[in-house]
Amino acid sequence: MSEAPASAAQPTKKSMDAIMALCKRRGFIYQASEIYGGINGFWDYGPLGAQLKKNLRDAWWQDMILNPCWGRKGPNGSRVRCVPLETCIIQHPKVWEASGHVGGFNDPMVDCKESKGRYRYDHVQVFVPETGDAGDKPVFAYVGDQPSEAKQRKKAEKLFGVIKSVALSSIPQPWARVIGPDAEKPGTLTEPRMFNLMFDTIPGAIRDEANKAYLRPETAQGVFVNFKNVVDTTRVKLPFGIGNTGRSFRNEVTPRNFTFRSREFEQAELEFFCHPDESVEWYKFWRDFRMDWWKAIGLAGENLILREHDKDELSHYSQGTSDVEYRFPFTAPGFGELEGIAHRGNYDLTQHENTSRTKLKYFDAERGELLPNGSRKGEWYIPHCIEPAAGLDRGALALICEGYTRDESRPSPEFLKLHPRVAPIKAAVFPLVAKDGMPEVGEKLYDELFAKFGNRGFIEFDEKQSIGKRYARMDEAGCPFCFTIDGDTLTNQTVTVRDRDSGQQERIGIDKVSGFLGEKLG
Ligand code: ATP
Repeated sequence: MSEAPASAAQPTKKSMDAIMALCKRRGFIYQASEIYGGINGFWDYGPLGAQLKKNLRDAWWQDMILNPCWGRKGPNGSRVRCVPLETCIIQHPKVWEASGHVGGFNDPMVDCKESKGRYRYDHVQVFVPETGDAGDKPVFAYVGDQPSEAKQRKKAEKLFGVIKSVALSSIPQPWARVIGPDAEKPGTLTEPRMFNLMFDTIPGAIRDEANKAYLRPETAQGVFVNFKNVVDTTRVKLPFGIGNTGRSFRNEVTPRNFTFRSREFEQAELEFFCHPDESVEWYKFWRDFRMDWWKAIGLAGENLILREHDKDELSHYSQGTSDVEYRFPFTAPGFGELEGIAHRGNYDLTQHENTSRTKLKYFDAERGELLPNGSRKGEWYIPHCIEPAAGLDRGALALICEGYTRDESRPSPEFLKLHPRVAPIKAAVFPLVAKDGMPEVGEKLYDELFAKFGNRGFIEFDEKQSIGKRYARMDEAGCPFCFTIDGDTLTNQTVTVRDRDSGQQERIGIDKVSGFLGEKLG
């Protein structure tokens, strides 16, 4: 077998179309209900995507719940302690009143009577002449990063020559001369209206508004409403965290950018409870750990940043919020949020205590005045909460975008550099040809790898087609290592191991394969 040339990858701008095509071709992500024309804002994961997302969720669970922060000590000098929870998508409607979602989870929207489009009011811009006003000519509205922008720009330039862009809100209403982003005629935009992002549903047989409930827009509230249960039924002591992963739903007005902004998505959220005096230190601790975590599973580099919110961006109860942001091909040169780490103060528990009239204060026996017998008097308080809230779909998409690589010097130029920990296929075993006893040796190796690593992802066995085609398929699927049984294997008990990223091959003893893979998978 000849050695593949060393990789000479040139950084080229990644095309979202190419990434989406690969996701479809290799079974990572499909449009939901595709055979019926799809449904806007919903995506299904194919076999490889489902396993990639599971690996990401498992990595989160392992590093946040089972062995939080890789055993790092927290600011209190002790190991970080966390427990899991699995809570319902539908909770009592009062949960969302207390959390502020029913009253406040609103964005002002404008509708277009002609195109039936609905746009976030603060996202709509208008092209007007650079100097002077438009007189009685129409002006052109668009939404940034939507196809409407280029279309409207062209029309505006034709009419006015040099144009500038201003916010729709700066144009006095009624907007009789404004042509909506996807409209042909002027005057079709409605005035801004509030639009609640929560999906509602009516549980039970009586279809009565009074029975209305909501699909959760975040997993976090399931934790807050169970805080007392966890404290009362387990031996946790502050500081500790409660993690919750699962589906959330937001009726996003303009779902876009592949899975980045969907209407159904999966979150992995941790609510970490601590004493108010220690909360700022814990906030910094979690912010830094979460950034390190994303780097450790393959997002290191200049595409990943931690953005600390300015003081004026913070909620009134927060003493700090930062976002881990990734430079997706569709946000470049800007970044898009992967995870928010928020200092939430005691806002949520206080809201639920007041609304439910259930005492959610915590009795801390290790605090308070020192008594003559050497023990402490104890202290009642509502804990502060630090919330690292990650999105698993955005996480999976960032891993795919980061991993997607084109190298024209390779026989098959597209490949996916996924970190071995999250890669859906961990290894492939290939008999070079389906004869001369190679398949039998290969099957034995496959059985060994399957027994050891089959609980972490797929192990492939393939004896059909040319070896080049088999490598290419594994490259596109992000499989980090292929082990090939060839003529030499039969005489000297060695196989080739091919590295996905360099295309290089080396020979190792067949009895060393499982040790090699174990080390690489970590
Ligand atoms: P954005 O400002 O982008 O709407 P957000 O700040 O409202 O996001 P959070 O409420 O902090 O998001 O939710 C935590 C995480 O959940 C986000 O960092 C993101 O990864 C994920 N998420 C939120 N909304 C969506 C969505 N519509 N589609 C996919 N993932 C989402």
